[in-house]
Formats: sequence, structure tokens, C-alpha cells
Amino acid sequence: MAFSRAAIRTLTSSPVCCLMQPLRKRIVPIFLLHRFTDDRRNIQGHTQEHLESVLSYLGSHGYSVVSVREVVESVIEGKPLPPRSVAFTLDDGFFDQARILPIFERYKAPVTLFLATDMVDHQHWSWDYKLEYLFKKTSLETLELDLGYGLTKVSFSQPNEKRRLVRNLKNLHKGMPNQQTEAALLQFAERLGVNLPSTAPEEYEPITWDQARNLESPFIEFGPHSQRHVILSRVSSEESEREILGSWEALKKNLVNPLPIFCYPSGREGIDFGTREQKIVENAGFKAALSADPGYVDLVNPAKNNLYSLKRFSFPNDMTYFKQYCSWLEYAKEQISIT
Ligand SMILES: [Zn+2]
Repeated sequence: MAFSRAAIRTLTSSPVCCLMQPLRKRIVPIFLLHRFTDDRRNIQGHTQEHLESVLSYLGSHGYSVVSVREVVESVIEGKPLPPRSVAFTLDDGFFDQARILPIFERYKAPVTLFLATDMVDHQHWSWDYKLEYLFKKTSLETLELDLGYGLTKVSFSQPNEKRRLVRNLKNLHKGMPNQQTEAALLQFAERLGVNLPSTAPEEYEPITWDQARNLESPFIEFGPHSQRHVILSRVSSEESEREILGSWEALKKNLVNPLPIFCYPSGREGIDFGTREQKIVENAGFKAALSADPGYVDLVNPAKNNLYSLKRFSFPNDMTYFKQYCSWLEYAKEQISIT
């Protein structure tokens, strides 16, 4: 069931939200943000203007932004949260994300940035970003590729074709062993005639530990997101454990008060991580872990949440859809489709 934009606007207006408040009280959406638009570095993503309108909308419409730490404490210990709570997370740890964090603080909105710590430690950049970069830089417009239905000539002369192709290739490689993906990248670099730098180029520049330390505050927290941002289900058990524990060690070494909540790279439960990773995280003493599967945290029935795979919504770049996920509306829609 999909609502029209006009219907969403009516259903998320203040009087209707007041009426539906008992339903909204029970749930918390955690939003997942990625990169921020930076024209100089040719990065496309969320805009600062949109984020500011969202934060000011929340402030003037009775919502409270809480931290992921508080959401997890509420699930575990039953600590009450303000009605209409909302939480924000950012994944990976890029320079453009570090630059945006003070905006959250200015609106007194807690936020957590999950760091792939080898990015910060060694200027490592992960395979998915390398793939994106190779297609961004190539002067070729076609390539013979097998996208799962035999070898065909694929054209990517238009920006939307290129975006779609990179998305397809990312999904295809997320299902392959990591070693195979790394080897495929070298072949792509050769075939596309692009030099693949060993450390992150400017548009993939990570946050530094100094920056992170200066940003750490009651409003800005940092959590672990693996070391190399590999798909954990596509590496050995030992590697998966090393990625999870290693990123936590790096955070503890470099920061004052890191958040003991893990965030899985790519984050689809049963695809990008599984029960193996959830056990590693639990045995390591993490309080909880976050997936990237869409859904709310349920505070009335805490047992309904899987503490080691808490759900999040991708942050909509459109105010109307943000209101839908933030208000009672999306939750009501989910309940209707379940029952
Ligand atoms: Zn990530």
C-alpha cells in the first residue's frame, strides 16, 4: 500500500499526529545517513539544507532526538524515552560526514557515527568505493560483462546507466567471497584503464582520529563498523571476528567514550551478516548491534527486537517521506500489512 504525497501530508499533519500519538509512543525510528553532497569533491548525497530542515521540523513538532545509546538502554533496562523519540546514525566515517556532525550538535540532536577504522588508521578504502571510483573515472562507455545472464555488451554512457550498473555490480559482488571481489577489482581497473590508488583519493578521504577526538561530545558519539568495511558473511570466521573486535580496539585506543554497539557493513541480516556475526558481537560484550534492514525499535514489547540486529530506516532525502517514517504512519502501515 502506497500513499500519495498529499495523503501523507494530511496524515502527518499536527492534528492527526496528536490523535495517533498513543500508537507513535511505542516505537523509535533510527535513521541511517550516508554521505553529504560536496560539489568540490564531486560527492552526491544528503544536503546540509535538508538535514537542517529535518532537525528544525523535529524541534518544532514535538519530537525528541535521542542517542542510539539511550535507545538501547531503553530496550535493555526499560528506561523511558521521551514520547516521539527519533535517533540518527551515520555510517563509514568520511570527511564530509565529519564536517556535518556539528550541525547536529547545534540543534542539540545526538548522533552516532560508525567508523570503518582501517579507513581512519590506514587511509584504506573499501572495495565498493573502489568500484564506484573506477566507473566514475573511466573514459569507456561500454564493457562486455556477465551480470548473471551471460556475457553481454553493457552501455553506461549516461549517468543514470552508470549508477544503475555500479549498483548492480555492487550487489553481485556482495554475494561473492571477499578475495574474489578484490581480484575482480584489479581486473576492472585494467579493463577500464583507470589507475586504482592504494590509499583513498580525495573524494573518499576519511575523518582523522584528531577530528573524531575533537568532535566527541555528549551529542556526538562514535561506534565500530568493522576495520575494512568488508561484507562479514563473505570472509572466514577468523576474519569476521578480527574485523569486529579490531574496530572496537581501534576506537578504544583513540577515543574517550566509544559506543559499545556494533554496526554491520552493508547490514542486511541473513545476507551481509548472519547468526555467526551476532554471536561474535554478543560474546565480545557489545550491548547491541545495528542492521540496515528497515523497521522500528519497539519499546512496548522489547522482546520483539533482536538486540543484535536492531533495524534502521535509510534517511529519506524528501521531507514528505521523512514525515511518513518519523510519524505514526509508516508503523500503522506495517501493522496493517502484518495482520
Ligand atoms: Zn558502511
